[in-house]
Amino acid sequence: MTEASIFTRILNGEIPGDFVARTDRVFAIRDINPQAPLHVLVIPVTEQYRDVTELAAGDPALMAEMVAMAEQIATEHADGEFRLIFNNGARAGQSVFHVHAHVLADLEEDRLVGF
Ligand code: 5GP
Repeated sequence: MTEASIFTRILNGEIPGDFVARTDRVFAIRDINPQAPLHVLVIPVTEQYRDVTELAAGDPALMAEMVAMAEQIATEHADGEFRLIFNNGARAGQSVFHVHAHVLADLEEDRLVGF
């Protein structure tokens, strides 16, 4: 059996996590190394999808639930506007291969990367 991901271990209480939302299928924790005033990770409970391409192909409704949770968090903890980032592959910056969305909000315009 493969080892549980860091996010599953947080969900199971083996490692501390700062939870901001949770349903049967999706949960959200604050990133340990925030890149914006609000930086939350939205994560499916299942770790069967490694990245967003697998998730989109395998369970688009679950992906939609993640987007809805991102919006809810941005509304509750910021002004409702947010960036949603999926790093897809190691060379694109992905380090945890249990799919997750980065929700960034309360952004300062001059600190936006790229565009
Ligand atoms: P990735 O690089 O895979 O797109 O994103 C992984 C994210 O998980 C990183 O932003 C990293 O800071 C975050 N992370 C890694 N380990 C932990 C942890 O133990 N707790 C929390 N809350 N976030 C973590």
